[in-house]
Amino acid sequence: MIKAIGLFSGGLDSILAVRMIRDQGIEVDALHVYTTFESPSSADEAGRKESERNPTNPDKANEKIREHPCASVSNMAAKLWIGLTTMDVSEDFLEMIRHPRFGYGSGINPCLDCRITMLRKAKARMETLGAQFVFTGEVLGQRPMTQRRDTLRKVERESGLEGLLLRPLSAKLLSPTVPEQEGWVDRARLLDLSGRSRKPQIELARQWGITDYPQPAGGCFLTDKTLARRIKDVLSHTGSLSKEDLILSKVGRHFRLSDSVKVIVGRWEAENDFLERYAEGRWMFQVVGAPGPIALAEGTLSSETIRKVAALVARYSDAKREASVEVRYTYEERERMVEVSPADDARIAPWRI
Ligand code: SF4
Repeated sequence: MIKAIGLFSGGLDSILAVRMIRDQGIEVDALHVYTTFESPSSADEAGRKESERNPTNPDKANEKIREHPCASVSNMAAKLWIGLTTMDVSEDFLEMIRHPRFGYGSGINPCLDCRITMLRKAKARMETLGAQFVFTGEVLGQRPMTQRRDTLRKVERESGLEGLLLRPLSAKLLSPTVPEQEGWVDRARLLDLSGRSRKPQIELARQWGITDYPQPAGGCFLTDKTLARRIKDVLSHTGSLSKEDLILSKVGRHFRLSDSVKVIVGRWEAENDFLERYAEGRWMFQVVGAPGPIALAEGTLSSETIRKVAALVARYSDAKREASVEVRYTYEERERMVEVSPADDARIAPWRI
């Protein structure tokens, strides 16, 4: 029996691709490649709490709430009756963001490197299982960076899958692959979809009775402009990027006070709790005597910088209109107090990342 590895995101395109290949009598084993940075443990948790606190205006929080991608992917695979393997590529991902061979997309998304890495994993899986080829739900022209004719070819070549990578949804617009030439797959039963419209896929799903599929997500967090700015700031000031940097870039408000000092201020209770867990090796600031956020500061802090950070955290507290506010700051076991006037918006604007 012919066996194929399907790169599976759980989205409609990959569901249709699985159906098309499986309906040709081919055994499908799905592979979901993910990073731990997609975990909802930080911003999503915070968003959830925020929506509880402010149920009449939950829009802001709602945009941060999503199910953990792996949970929905495995549900979807179960519904399709296909085997699913999930693979965490967080470490590869960090290296790709630090040094993308093929550059970034609109944010700090190294899409070509990312696709190549995913397909290399799929190729390794194909070899381990003795499968004959790999397929994806990619559609020609759907995404500007990775799904152009030239980049589809480049990704195929760089992943070492030349001739063995089938895109069933657009196959008739692409050169025949080995599975088609060998007759493992009937090319006549593949499709010729292209472009950004999802209407043909939605219609196909309707015809096939597929009703339960996720709506397209907002995209990968690396395409987010704010996150991209924060990650670029870390890279340019430290020359490195850790898993922790990436996780923290999704939380709170970020400020750059100098080349060596960065401050993160929590926006709501869950973010403050989350930041507190990362206090080790960082300075932690909080207003005394009034509700307010936690701020974490990284770097070596002079007494002048301590006053700046204290004024910043006071700005986001309930005491922001007071003339003078007491702020507690701690570093490891040491704890001190400082009295400052809360900063005004004009003062902090140039610090914002
Ligand atoms: S958008 Fe994100 S997950 Fe998708 S290919 Fe680009 S970097 Fe990878």
